[in-house]
Amino acid sequence: MPASDSDVLVVGGGVIGLACAYRLAAEGADVRLIDASGAQGASWAAAGMLAPISEATFGEAALTRLTVAAVPRFTALAAELEAATGSQVGLRRDGTLVVAFNSDDKAALARLSAFRSEAGLSSEPLTGRQARELEPYLATSVRSGVFAADDLSVNNRAYVTTLRAAAEAVGVAFVHEQVGGLLQSSARTHGAVTVTGVTYEAATTVLCAGSATPKLLDVEVYPVKGQILRLAVPERLSAAGPVLTRTVRGLVRGSEVYLVPRAGGEIVLGATSEQQGHDTTVTAGAVYELLRNAYELLPISSEFAFVEARAGLRPSTPDNGPLVGRVDDGLILATGHYRNGILLSAITSDAVHELAAGRGLGPEWAAFEPTRFARG
Ligand SMILES: Cc1cc2nc3c(=O)[nH]c(=O)nc-3n(C[C@H](O)[C@H](O)[C@H](O)COP(=O)(O)OP(=O)(O)OC[C@H]3O[C@@H](n4cnc5c(N)ncnc54)[C@H](O)[C@@H]3O)c2cc1C
Repeated sequence: MPASDSDVLVVGGGVIGLACAYRLAAEGADVRLIDASGAQGASWAAAGMLAPISEATFGEAALTRLTVAAVPRFTALAAELEAATGSQVGLRRDGTLVVAFNSDDKAALARLSAFRSEAGLSSEPLTGRQARELEPYLATSVRSGVFAADDLSVNNRAYVTTLRAAAEAVGVAFVHEQVGGLLQSSARTHGAVTVTGVTYEAATTVLCAGSATPKLLDVEVYPVKGQILRLAVPERLSAAGPVLTRTVRGLVRGSEVYLVPRAGGEIVLGATSEQQGHDTTVTAGAVYELLRNAYELLPISSEFAFVEARAGLRPSTPDNGPLVGRVDDGLILATGHYRNGILLSAITSDAVHELAAGRGLGPEWAAFEPTRFARG
């Protein structure tokens, strides 16, 4: 089949591929993006929390520094996209309230909060009563809480849709096809070939295929399945005001659950974390557990409408950090964003733009070289 040329070929059109394609085209490159699903991967399933504080955990200091640096990049890109398209991405700055139920959950939350304070992340400890003052519908059994005022959230589906519109507006050419392999010769990548045999040549290929990346390149990325529900607050409940005003996360007998409110009454309830290969089946047991945990956290949730159950595959790596960097003269890798791909999309697109221009990356990226696992 005839070859088709562009400066840059982006493989994969989730948030990472879309943000990279948008940034490169906005800076003047001729960009083509190939995606098989129409962004129906992890980016569509996600909850949209932009939560460097409540996601920060032991042993992930470099990742925390990156996620903290990602927030202003995300909000700047969101403003840029909204101005360019006239659409809203649903950014919310209400913070995250994390709550605990029994003494074990309370102790675990206290340990995590101490670690976060030492890392310079600001959060405010609360009693159960203070937590309920912030969110009056919380269960009376909530024992303690922590409020992270600087965590944000976004409507990830509105963000994906707006990114695509903005990418189209700056000239990104979209191809709805599945890539079967990279075109490689003399240790250099020069494009990709689809499963139907069409070749796309490019000076630079950017590989952003999420959890499917190992099917195209030998990298340490594996899928972590997340089952997640979308509920809706009926008007009769929200007539007197919103039932939930900010993201609430809870440890319910050791198991994590979160509720993320959106404008318009949608509540995203997540999520499981399972290593099941590439399986995206929604299971009765997961739906049951998510609803049960939500009920324990927010009893009124049993009156919400059930809208959707879905599973997405987080692209994970052995150290939970992304793989962003040059692989050869023609290939840039941007994948492995695991739990934080929505938050990291803008800062990743900046990094890919730097790499495509032949420049190096700042120190915040030093821990995320794509070759770090190969070196053992
Ligand atoms: C349940 C759940 C909740 C989450 N919550 C959050 C959250 O609150 N905040 C946050 O920041 N992150 C969250 N994440 C993580 C985030 O969704 C991911 O890190 C992010 O979406 C990864 O983006 P991506 O573009 O790399 O992958 P994807 O969105 O999976 O996109 C990859 C794309 O590549 C395409 N593709 C793959 N192979 C090929 C091929 N051979 N040919 C053509 N196209 C191909 C696919 O069709 C797909 O569109 C969550 C994830 C899940 C599953």
